[in-house]
Formats: sequence, structure tokens, C-alpha cells
Amino acid sequence: MFLFGGYGLYLLVSLPALLLGLWAQAKVRGAFNKYSRVRSAVGLSGADVARRMLDANGLNNIRVEQVGGMLSDHYDPGKKVLRLSQSTYSSNSIAAAGVAAHEAGHALQDQSAYFPLKIRSTLVPTVQIGSWLGPIIFIVGLLLAGTFGTQLALVGLILFGLTAVFAIVTLPVELDASRRAKAWLSTSGVVYQQDMKGVNSVLNAAAWTYVAAAIQAITTILYYAFLLFGRRRN
Ligand SMILES: [Zn+2]
Repeated sequence: MFLFGGYGLYLLVSLPALLLGLWAQAKVRGAFNKYSRVRSAVGLSGADVARRMLDANGLNNIRVEQVGGMLSDHYDPGKKVLRLSQSTYSSNSIAAAGVAAHEAGHALQDQSAYFPLKIRSTLVPTVQIGSWLGPIIFIVGLLLAGTFGTQLALVGLILFGLTAVFAIVTLPVELDASRRAKAWLSTSGVVYQQDMKGVNSVLNAAAWTYVAAAIQAITTILYYAFLLFGRRRN
């Protein structure tokens, strides 16, 4: 069947991104397993690190809370709350310091109206719908013959394409949050220089997962576009 005709091609095109993703995830797990067991020389908890970084930047109004789940750490720009998972909140490990400062980095982006963060926040509701509705509309459009079917498929492609835009915009947001975290940690005295290697290792590994996700999203969209426009040529 036509839909599966390009499947071998899809595998071929998406395999490098998939392998990069798996490699990055293994790297994150490795770095996290290692540095979540090493107490930072200063010994502050993740919650303390975040609190100090926020206060040092005049963000006393942002609360730091504990949240359930693994790797669920995030900053909520709507509620102005920084939520840290249990393993980050109360741990005084090097990994916890890195993750907490990274999340505080997102709060700093919010404070300075960092443009990629604004685009990303604006895209969230549309992407949530587009990521599941887009593929459905696309496939229905492909199955319907004629101009209407093609137009419908194009609508689905654009809707689903927003997930790729989202993944691309996420890249500068995440890299910048880690850059802010490293810059502050290494100059504030909250983490000693000897522990920065561990912080860098955890944050850089995490950055690769976002690179892989962006490449995966782009290859998926390219494959969809190939299915649509490849058919029109035949
Ligand atoms: Zn982040």
C-alpha cells in the first residue's frame, strides 16, 4: 500500500536521529547516575541553589516547590513557580545543583522576556492539539483522492509541522537556560570550580536530547511532505 511504500525510506532517514536520541538518553542517564551520587563540595540542596539564584536576580517573588515524579523539574511561567522533583529539591548532589540552576535559568528567561521562550509558550496549546490531530487529518487527506484530499493533507501537514517548529524553538530555550545556569553557578560560589565538570556533564548531556528531538521532528515532517508531494508527481 502507498502509505507503507515510503516506510523503508523513512527508517533510513530517521535512523541517525533515532540513534542520536538513544545515545543522548544513555548519556543523560550515565551523567545523572554518576553525579546524583556525588555531594557538591558546598553541599547546598537543589532547592537552596534555585532560591539563591532567583534571589540574586531579584526574583524573590518566584516560589520554589517540590513536585512528584522523576525528572519532572520545570518552571511554570504562568504561575511563577519553580517546581523541582524530589531528587532535585532535597538532594545536595552536583546533579541537583545543575538541574535546579537550569530551571532557575528558565525563570530568568521569563524575567528578561527572552524571545524564544515567548514563542515556545505561545505555541504550546496549538502544538498539543496539532500533534495528534495533524497526523489524522493528514492521513484522511491522503486517502481521499483529488484536490480536496491534497489540500486537507496539507492542512494536516502544517498542523503537525508545528511540532517540529516547537522542537526547534525549544533548542535555544534549553541551551540558554543551561548557559545561564553554568554562568551563575561558576561565579556565585554556590558550586566550586572542581564540581563544575559534573554540572557541565549533566547539562550538556541533556542538551543533546533536545538536539536529537529537533532532528527527529524535522525528519518526520520531511517524510510526511515526501508522502504528500511524492504522490502528486506520480
Ligand atoms: Zn529546561
